[in-house]
Amino acid sequence: MLYWDLIDRLKGLLEPSCVVTDEAELRRYSRDALSRSRAFDAAPLLERRGDVLVRPKTTEEVSWVVKAARDFGAPVIPYGGGTGVMGGLAPVRGGIIVDMGLMNGILDVSPKDMTATVEAGVMLEDLASALSEQGLMLGHDPWSVPIATVGGAISTNGVGYRAAAVGPMGAQVLGLEVVMPTGQVIATRSVPKTSSGPNLNHLFIGSEGVFGIITRATLRVYRQPEERVFSTFRFQTFEDGFGAVSEMFALGLRPAVVDLADDFEGVHLYMVFEGFRELVQAQRRRSAEICLGCKGRDMGPTEAILYWDTRYQVAEAYRDSLADSSDGDKPRPEGRSFDYLHVALPVSRVLEYRLQCEKIFREYDIRATEFAIWTEPELFSMVLVPGTDTRPEDMPKAVEQALKLAQDFGGIMEYCHGVGVKLAHLLPREMGYSLDVVRAMKMTLDPQNIMNPGKLGL
Ligand SMILES: Cc1cc2nc3c(=O)[nH]c(=O)nc-3n(C[C@H](O)[C@H](O)[C@H](O)COP(=O)(O)OP(=O)(O)OC[C@H]3O[C@@H](n4cnc5c(N)ncnc54)[C@H](O)[C@@H]3O)c2cc1C
Repeated sequence: MLYWDLIDRLKGLLEPSCVVTDEAELRRYSRDALSRSRAFDAAPLLERRGDVLVRPKTTEEVSWVVKAARDFGAPVIPYGGGTGVMGGLAPVRGGIIVDMGLMNGILDVSPKDMTATVEAGVMLEDLASALSEQGLMLGHDPWSVPIATVGGAISTNGVGYRAAAVGPMGAQVLGLEVVMPTGQVIATRSVPKTSSGPNLNHLFIGSEGVFGIITRATLRVYRQPEERVFSTFRFQTFEDGFGAVSEMFALGLRPAVVDLADDFEGVHLYMVFEGFRELVQAQRRRSAEICLGCKGRDMGPTEAILYWDTRYQVAEAYRDSLADSSDGDKPRPEGRSFDYLHVALPVSRVLEYRLQCEKIFREYDIRATEFAIWTEPELFSMVLVPGTDTRPEDMPKAVEQALKLAQDFGGIMEYCHGVGVKLAHLLPREMGYSLDVVRAMKMTLDPQNIMNPGKLGL
């Protein structure tokens, strides 16, 4: 259903060119990077497109749009870079897509306060370049730096390469400005700790836009490291490599980057150490001792350097593939049937979890082409591809079983990409009564359920 009166109202509020009803544009902005083949049972939810797309330029304009939406009971879907991989911005009930792309200002960079204040639609890559001009850098450095926005990264609480040292995107957030579902604007104070009541930033971190539209953020930033050192170790078994990583973390070592992978090239651990010289050297030396003690073989820096230098390539290729289908009429690249899981578990259960997953995958003739620990020993990832005898229904079944197993092991089913429409059905199982608490907050703040409905099971 097209809300013609609402569209007329929006045209009166924003510059007419910032209110778009063109079919191809609407289709393009009604999808993120979740392909139908990876969406499994949620694939039909990706069919619905938004009814109108708006491009506000100021917080005030966002507020006007939300107030208009509220008056019409129309859903509002915040759109950052559109690179989410769980269908977090699928307009499952239609409505207004709010593209934050024009709100991409870098408002302030303060080397003294070690903060950057930005509009939420700024691309991570643009912010990273602006910071580097002042000898600074962002703590959040995901693969998707060239294609994702600050607002999207906060709303999914994304994890990047440096998370071992500085935590996920949410940990970089000091203060937020948010347009609430009523259209009112709130702003939290930009300080690193608070004991003056609950820290409301956490209502919006990892919440996929269901509690409001983030319009501004003040983020912690870091000095460019005095020294950066790369290291690669190879292990006979994943267990040995995992033993080394767990021991490093238990001891308190925090390499900026930790990536332990078991793939077609064997078991390898890439580490990057960053910071001031003495710290870098001490961490590198002690990590090497631990790896050698766990039967690791020191391969020198070369492989880890190549890994570091090429870390954005997948995202750049993704951006190019989108440019090829930029008229919105061409289908998005669907890719072959595969999936990737990113679960978090207690350290003590990771190896047992892997073994049990292998059993599940054998049952469905599915191949795990990679098992990995990224950034912390609790964070365990797998890449899955079908085998020769896999039936179409087998991949979804195997994935569901593996995700439920992570929950049964005391962990969670996803540590960085959000829940979107793909995993929403498993959230009640994971959160129990906690999800009722979230639902109660949602009903109070957004009784009409207009803010990104259908996400987080709301
Ligand atoms: C090639 C590739 C590599 C990737 N690598 C990583 C990685 O290394 N680490 C990682 O964590 N993720 C990764 N991702 C996933 C994705 O990039 C992240 O989830 C990213 O944080 C999403 O940012 P975005 O701006 O594209 O958000 P979008 O996809 O536009 O939105 C994501 C969610 O946030 C909401 N949202 C967006 N902006 C706002 C706002 N201003 N206010 C409120 N809600 C908002 C949306 O409604 C949606 O629910 C990758 C994706 C791709 C395609």
